[in-house]
Amino acid sequence: AAFESLGLRTELAEAAAALGWKSPSPVQQQAIPLLIQGRDVIGLAETGSGKTAAFALPILQGLLSSDAKRTCAFYALILSPTRELALQIKEQVEALGSCIAVRCAALVGGIDLASQAVALGKAPHIVVGTPGRVVDHLSNTKGFSLKLLKHLVLDEADRLLHMDFEQEIDQILKVAPKERRTQLFSATMTSKVAKLQRACLADPVKVEV
Ligand code: AMP
Repeated sequence: AAFESLGLRTELAEAAAALGWKSPSPVQQQAIPLLIQGRDVIGLAETGSGKTAAFALPILQGLLSSDAKRTCAFYALILSPTRELALQIKEQVEALGSCIAVRCAALVGGIDLASQAVALGKAPHIVVGTPGRVVDHLSNTKGFSLKLLKHLVLDEADRLLHMDFEQEIDQILKVAPKERRTQLFSATMTSKVAKLQRACLADPVKVEV
């Protein structure tokens, strides 16, 4: 019931309960209601805080009530600094979103572009990827574009920048629609993170745990 009190629909609250989660974590309590209201959020939270579900559940809820669910349009892009993290995020999005039959694709290094292009051809609602590989697909995979994107998440922004993904992120921001919601999560607030925040968030609310 606690997940529902944040404004989440019953099927998503039940998906969280089915994972054995008894109540929302602090970052989830703070971020989820703001995200459901449609605010951009900057979250200062570490891995282990439950931040993945904090950004994923409101996106799934948006998808549930969006045309994208029916028309199978690409709805959300989640950028992650490493292949391992991206695959973990995909797994969690699929677990939370199985109740609404969400389709999720991972775009990470170490797997050939062609087989990922096949996954993109199956019209995923949500794509999780590392910035370099996402840019590779934007330039090489026919039919893959961010034109219809509604949500962008920059996860572990401090690590994204530390790993020198600045240029790729810029390229992605250039082709992402301006009319979108954006979330940025970071363990630490650095001057580079602040600069990225200014470049991609609109009137954000800060959540700190
Ligand atoms: P994250 O910070 O997103 O990497 O999540 C860390 C771990 O906490 C993941 O394995 C989640 O499955 C788990 N988790 C997320 N939210 C909750 C919650 N509300 N209650 C218990 N575990 C959770």
